[in-house]
Amino acid sequence: MARYTGPVCRLCRREGEKLFLKGEKCSKQNCAINKRPTAPGQHGTSRKKLSEYGQQTREKQKTKRIYGVLERQFHKYFETARRTPGVTGENLLRLLELRLDNAVYRLGYGRSRTEARQIVRHNLITVNGKKVNIPSYQVKVGDVIQVRDKSKPLQRFKDVVDVTGSRTVPEWLTSDPENLRGTVASKPLREHITYDLRETLIVELYSK
Ligand code: SF4
Repeated sequence: MARYTGPVCRLCRREGEKLFLKGEKCSKQNCAINKRPTAPGQHGTSRKKLSEYGQQTREKQKTKRIYGVLERQFHKYFETARRTPGVTGENLLRLLELRLDNAVYRLGYGRSRTEARQIVRHNLITVNGKKVNIPSYQVKVGDVIQVRDKSKPLQRFKDVVDVTGSRTVPEWLTSDPENLRGTVASKPLREHITYDLRETLIVELYSK
């Protein structure tokens, strides 16, 4: 499955804000945004005022980067969101939130979405008792997401939980950190997604 493999701090610098792509390093002083808040590249110091199209494109790129989704898949999410009753932008964010790798990250079993994705790919997660190794798998209300019993004692998860233990689990998930198990309690609502995202700009971009 295709994914971005280049330097991730560069993506934050391009968007001019922290996208929290690297786990614990993101809250430390040596985060690249703290050290060099300019855009990457030769002309990075001169940020121009963006046109309407530029703003829409940047918002789409930012959202894709936060969730680790490439263009083709993102566009498919948009098409699904458009066909689903309700507000298209909110539907789009809901589809992204309900990805299994995102749910694993939100539950605190990965320090970053990249790590959560790797954990899923490595067969360390079950959904309703069955192994699922597809990061884009859409979880549903009532699904139980769990670290596999034989993987729970791994030092890896102890290290992860040390870092993520203080993270707030969003209201649409309930968490049992002792057993590394979470349940999808409800569909994520817009107010549960606390990123500063302007999804209407993405809808406008794709509606041209
Ligand atoms: Fe972004 Fe994290 Fe890198 Fe900072 S450390 S620039 S927040 S990925």
